[in-house]
Amino acid sequence: MQYYLEHVIDSFKHKGLRKNLIQTLRDKGIEDEQVLTVMNKIPRHFFIDDNAFLHYAYKDEAFPIGASQTISHPFTVAFQSSLLEIKKRDKVLEIGTGSGYQTAVLLELGARVYSIERQRTLFLKTKPLLSKLGYNAKLFYGDGYKGSPSFAPFDKIIVTAGAPYIPDALKDQLAVGGIMVIPVDINETTQVMNRLIKQPDGSFETTEYGEFKFVPLLENKSPKG
Ligand code: SAH
Repeated sequence: MQYYLEHVIDSFKHKGLRKNLIQTLRDKGIEDEQVLTVMNKIPRHFFIDDNAFLHYAYKDEAFPIGASQTISHPFTVAFQSSLLEIKKRDKVLEIGTGSGYQTAVLLELGARVYSIERQRTLFLKTKPLLSKLGYNAKLFYGDGYKGSPSFAPFDKIIVTAGAPYIPDALKDQLAVGGIMVIPVDINETTQVMNRLIKQPDGSFETTEYGEFKFVPLLENKSPKG
């Protein structure tokens, strides 16, 4: 794919910085070659709209994307994507579209992506960006706690904001054998990454994977811009 966005190019410099970032992710323990390959391919700087931050795009850091939200750390994106074990044509529900970067990673891994964002300004910004880049996802403006019952069941569910608990609607919308990756609050600023696998009897096998810092999954507020 040839990436192009007005005023923003994917230069050799960007490509070099991206290669270094991939090495950093390897050094931090990411082993999933497919995930590393697609992250090496996608120009992360296209998803950061503030020019002042462009040159930071390839550091392993989170950055503001407007509406008091952040694009997740590359390590976090790589880690969650690896835990999901995406196979071609998997139907994936993402909660928290944000910048659209994680959405692009899932699409490049071959998934069919349904993504929900509750900040109207971000939804309105990211929708045209993804289509300009040639990415085809179903994007919804709405409340992630409710999931997307009309498109369920999903093979995989990824929540990209810190959840106070695991919403029942999301558990219900996961297919048997499906995987959900969700950071669950252990205090106000820190979450533990949970991976749930749905069993044939409807129960869940849950494994915890280390601490992360996400912006909160907001509850009990009607979506607004
Ligand atoms: N996947 C994003 C991460 C963005 S940060 C990326 O790669 O950039 C988390 C996002 O979750 C924010 O955009 C925030 O607005 C959104 N969010 C918070 N609460 C939500 C909810 N209840 N439903 C859907 N999205 C929500």
